[in-house]
Amino acid sequence: MIVDLRSDTLTRPVADMLEAMFQAKVGDDVFGEDPEVNRLQTMTANMFGMEAGLFCPSGTMTNQIAIKINTQPMDEVICDKRSHVYLYEGGGMMFNSGVSVRLLDGHRGILSPEIISEGINPDDIHLPRTRLISLENTCNRGGGSFYTLPQIKEISILAKKEGLKLHLDGARVFNALVETRENPAEYGKYFDTISVCLSKGLGAPVGSILLGSAETIKAATKIRKVFGGGMRQAGYLAAAGIYALDNHIDRLKQDNLKAKIIETVMRQSYVIEEVIPVETNILIFKPQKKWKTDKELLIWLNERGIKASSIGNGYIRFVTHLDITEAMIDYTLTVIHSFAKA
Ligand SMILES: *Cc1c(COP(=O)(O)O)cnc(C)c1O
Repeated sequence: MIVDLRSDTLTRPVADMLEAMFQAKVGDDVFGEDPEVNRLQTMTANMFGMEAGLFCPSGTMTNQIAIKINTQPMDEVICDKRSHVYLYEGGGMMFNSGVSVRLLDGHRGILSPEIISEGINPDDIHLPRTRLISLENTCNRGGGSFYTLPQIKEISILAKKEGLKLHLDGARVFNALVETRENPAEYGKYFDTISVCLSKGLGAPVGSILLGSAETIKAATKIRKVFGGGMRQAGYLAAAGIYALDNHIDRLKQDNLKAKIIETVMRQSYVIEEVIPVETNILIFKPQKKWKTDKELLIWLNERGIKASSIGNGYIRFVTHLDITEAMIDYTLTVIHSFAKA
């Protein structure tokens, strides 16, 4: 059996999603004429209490567009040091937007107004102008840690007071929302821009949506064109996104639960040095080096059909998702049980 826990981007469209894609009524989306794309954008904007949405090929693109429209060259962006926008977008914000970045150290990637305040530059000609705060919910490198609405509200109050824009990289925001049971429509009150991925645990093959005011999304559409992200009959992909939003949100709770089950068993193994408490669908742990390094354990797991990834400093990451069945979890637990004897 192969259990691929490397990423929740590995999900493949289910049969009904493919059927919805085949049935899509399409048009040229660069002309704004694809009904399915328009429906997806409106639907997501409504869901998050935002005026408008923009369908893009990737979450990297939605983040990069958001940073571009919320800043001017020479501005500074504040984010946690574990942020995807900083670590995993190839230095894009410096290249695309000409901004510098102030890295903060939140608790498992979760920032507080106190921590953020320390990163805001005073008005001084020597210093870059702090312009944008970027939050990540859930935080991937934080081990799937998440913000609650009261935490977001506090940060938004600070941002408004300081005249800063607030962006959310919500690649896995629904993994957080199924835990907090909060209403996504509340998010619209606090953020200037929100990026939501359809291609992670929601199970669509491609796509992310950028949300904001009508004016913001008009500007974003221009930037998407310039970044080469204007797609034509994208309705086939949008139809997959609509299907995902209609059918795959509530079930994320099961992915989170599966990660918790693995965590519980992992904690019983004395060859595991550390397990970061699971909050959503990401499990980060570290084997004891004198037993196996992370690299050695990955090979050992791979020989047993379990695929995972190393995230540095001796840590391994498991991500549960739509394509991980109960039988696969049972098998994974059996393999982990054998750790103690290994
Ligand atoms: C996956 C991910 C993205 C977007 O990634 P793409 O592969 O470009 O769609 C952005 N932020 C976070 C936190 C992610 O995990």
